[in-house]
Amino acid sequence: MGDYDVLFEPVRIGPKVAPNRFYQVPHCNGLGHARPTSLAAMRGIKAEGGWGVVCTEEVEIHPTSDLAPYVEGRLWDDDDIAGLRLMTEAVHEHGSLAGIELTHAGLDAANHYSRMTPIGPRSEGVLGGGGFEPAQTRAMTRRDFADVRRWHRAAAVRARDAGFDIVYCYAAHGLTLPMQLLSRRHNDRTDEYGGSLENRVRFLREIIEDTKDAVGHDCAVAVRLAVDELVGEQGITHDGEAAEIVAMLAELPDLWDVNISDWSNDSATSRFAAEGHQEPYIAFVKGLTTKPVVGVGRYTSPDSMVSAVRRGVLDLIGAARPSIADPHLPRKIREGRLEEIRECIGCNICVATDPKSLPIRCTQNPTMGEEWRRSWHPERIPWRRNDSAVMVVGAGPAGLEAARALGQRGHRVDLLDARRRLGGRVDREALLPGLAAWRRVVDWRLGRIEAMPEVSVYPESPMTADDVLASDARHVIVATGATWRRDGRGRSLGHAVDGWDSGSILTPDDILDDLVAGTWSVPDGRVVVYDDDHYVMGGLLAELLAVRGNNVTLVTPAPLLSYWTQFTLEQERIELRLRALGVDVVVRRTMPRVDGSSVVLASVVDGAETVLPRDVVVMVADRAPVHDLHDALLPALEDGRLDSLRLIGDADAPNLIAQAVFAGHLAAREHGEAVDRDAVPFRRERFSVPR
Ligand code: ADP
Ligand code: SF4
Repeated sequence: MGDYDVLFEPVRIGPKVAPNRFYQVPHCNGLGHARPTSLAAMRGIKAEGGWGVVCTEEVEIHPTSDLAPYVEGRLWDDDDIAGLRLMTEAVHEHGSLAGIELTHAGLDAANHYSRMTPIGPRSEGVLGGGGFEPAQTRAMTRRDFADVRRWHRAAAVRARDAGFDIVYCYAAHGLTLPMQLLSRRHNDRTDEYGGSLENRVRFLREIIEDTKDAVGHDCAVAVRLAVDELVGEQGITHDGEAAEIVAMLAELPDLWDVNISDWSNDSATSRFAAEGHQEPYIAFVKGLTTKPVVGVGRYTSPDSMVSAVRRGVLDLIGAARPSIADPHLPRKIREGRLEEIRECIGCNICVATDPKSLPIRCTQNPTMGEEWRRSWHPERIPWRRNDSAVMVVGAGPAGLEAARALGQRGHRVDLLDARRRLGGRVDREALLPGLAAWRRVVDWRLGRIEAMPEVSVYPESPMTADDVLASDARHVIVATGATWRRDGRGRSLGHAVDGWDSGSILTPDDILDDLVAGTWSVPDGRVVVYDDDHYVMGGLLAELLAVRGNNVTLVTPAPLLSYWTQFTLEQERIELRLRALGVDVVVRRTMPRVDGSSVVLASVVDGAETVLPRDVVVMVADRAPVHDLHDALLPALEDGRLDSLRLIGDADAPNLIAQAVFAGHLAAREHGEAVDRDAVPFRRERFSVPR
């Protein structure tokens, strides 16, 4: 340990003592009140992994703060205590503190489920509930303020009774009433809650005082404050009102949890923000208070963590995503197993599940969200049932994870790939602008595999069915990936683009081949990128081509470019970047035809056609799974020359990298086990039905 001792010092937080400086800040997860057992297991594993404080996500305190359709925490009345107690018990079992982020979401709560009247600083359209909902808040009355104070106080008492050690007053992300009252954008009240900063801070001060009064002897009271909204004078700024707010309340809470707002700024992806990116905004806070300060910045390096403490920026290293990618990160540092840290890649696939009300998942950690329902532990896998050896063909994320996890189970594994460089699509895609951190998916797995004598790796080994059958392999996992279709067929058009073979039609694979080889063979000129994929690839290639001086138009059938990146909180940033590079964006158009010098676009609304000149077309539509090796081996499975054969990852069905890693992990866990294909493959949390 040595150099990292400082990270393992206890930190007093009001009446409680955190056992170390590792602090899992509140984060959403799609498990919430609907799946309390799953939630407790997930949080408990983080405590086991050494996070000294483990917090909930935002927890609704009342039906007027109903965040449906999103599944967050809920503490509306005493009936909700038992579910949350599962979590505090799981966290306490490992000697960590449990924190709860009490939330009144104000104008972010559309109250779709409760049908209560939404409330906010003034009457205006609600922000949450799905987006652009035709519903407005009531401007809070005096009685509303008194009600919310009482509800917050009652929720704090319930939180204490559920076993929480730290109770939050939450004024961040623009998502809560106290923050909406701070903001002049939403608060134009003329009573004692509006106008001067002192008036706008009043409600936050009141709920801190109420919470301290109600539970302050038993629990620490934390404030989570956004110290910059990154909208300039329109909002809170770190060198403007935020400093005044912190100065006004400096010693009132027991802990300051500070960040930048909104969520897309706080949880910026690695493509747009580096480790520690919040430091310039939050560094001032410690100068204004003697209370401990926690902040985030996707810290995965223990050196950066130590530096943040030593430079006096933070007392506690806050983390959401690094704790998702590696729930055992602190323990690995303490035990000097730094090379085992599974570093977050900053892709926000974990974030993307929350707006879809789905259980959390993670690209790096395939066990995230599966701790209870599949009994998966991030560090342990049951030992092998038999000593069979396995051949894994394809060393992309699916094959790498399958080989690694099989090796962890004690199986002998041969991992082969046609290419010299391992990592499949990740090795290649990490060369695209801003995606370098994605390589961690490959590097961590290769590093683990190198430490496993059971696993042998054979690059530059293109395999045919004859090659496989000529070896002594009896168990084969095929993870041969997918290639991008050149004909532009995708979900929107339903058929190949007419004229797709009319010359200078490229796929992402062609451009990635160039990046790998360090060459550039794309002809200069007018480029049309046709994006019916809707994740990052279309936007990234448009960016790359524009940076290289091409005149680029991105065409998409969706209403927004890179539509799905809304869920990873990147869409606006991508759009901003492309517009700054001069990329023309044409939305809601398919591309039914191309010829050697033009493309025909058709409106998805009325089919009206327009024509654009082109020199090059890049097709970013469906991918073609590569399963010919698997198909050629099937007869050998049937006649007994192979004992098992499994197709996984993009070769099975193209999807996110996260899904390929998951598929590899699942294949390794199931190898040699009896799997009932007719049974539901995981446990479910059921509501009890009165009989
Ligand atoms: P996934 O995302 O499912 O892991 P990738 O496309 O990232 O898939 O990786 C597939 C890997 O399989 C690539 O590195 C590719 O070189 C390799 N591959 C494909 N076909 C063969 C083959 N017949 N023999 C060996 N390797 C192959
Ligand atoms: Fe990090 Fe991506 Fe995992 Fe989220 S999904 S924790 S951003 S690796």
